[in-house]
Amino acid sequence: MNTPDSPLIPSFAPVAARLRIVLVGTQHPGNIGAAARALKTMGLSRLVLVAPEDYPAEEAFRRAAGADDLLGDAQVVATLADAVSDCHFVMGCTARSRRVALEEHAPRQAGERAVHAAAQGGEVALVFGRERTGLTNEELQLCHAAVHIPANPDYSSLNLAAAVQVLAYELRLALLALQQAPVPEAPHPDEAPASHEHLEGFFAQLGDTLDAIDFHKGRTPDSAMRKLRRLYLRANLNEQEVRLLRGILADAQRMARLARGPAA
Ligand code: SAH
Repeated sequence: MNTPDSPLIPSFAPVAARLRIVLVGTQHPGNIGAAARALKTMGLSRLVLVAPEDYPAEEAFRRAAGADDLLGDAQVVATLADAVSDCHFVMGCTARSRRVALEEHAPRQAGERAVHAAAQGGEVALVFGRERTGLTNEELQLCHAAVHIPANPDYSSLNLAAAVQVLAYELRLALLALQQAPVPEAPHPDEAPASHEHLEGFFAQLGDTLDAIDFHKGRTPDSAMRKLRRLYLRANLNEQEVRLLRGILADAQRMARLARGPAA
């Protein structure tokens, strides 16, 4: 029987391997080490560092306290877009509740959704911001949903590594629950959730199309695009649906070109 203490059954490890923790612009290397330790205690292993301010650093390895293998394997990339381009589901952790135009999850729900998506073959990222300023709005725009730990509303900002620990624990609970349940069948590739890269391609084409049909009429496109992103991200589009929508946009762009007539 699989109890939480028994060795991991084969289904656990490949699912855990599709979950990555992304730390953006971390300022204190000690927090990177402490985050690595937090992940290892929960049986997770993938750490991605986006433009850390001071890394590699001795302090990070000191605070990793035995999780230095995980730290040594950490990937360092330049931008959040690089860190999540192959992901199907990206959640941004924010100390400020309801300040972002994104669907918001509590940690338990976030853990369940993340593990469910990974069990179906998707790559999943949980993104954490800078100690002083968190994630920028542009970075949150790259996320499909936000996660907020319902802390003391008057003092809601946890230490970065402590926040990683809370979410890593929730991922572990969801992974352990998965061991008790049958593994969901992986969907056909067409029905798999669209990758981040494909969704961003769709959003770029949507932006171009709205310009081509003069949707904004002189207004700045930012607010409409934010709302549209939220709408489409909430829909959990699969690869086939993204292709369908892009086909419609391509036709709209073609019609707009025809309506403009031959270039002078
Ligand atoms: N001063 C920053 C907080 C930074 S704490 C701000 O006001 O945004 C560093 C990171 O830890 C945050 O970007 C977030 O990813 C995570 N974090 C801290 N507290 C959190 C909370 N209550 N819920 C979710 N994530 C939290």
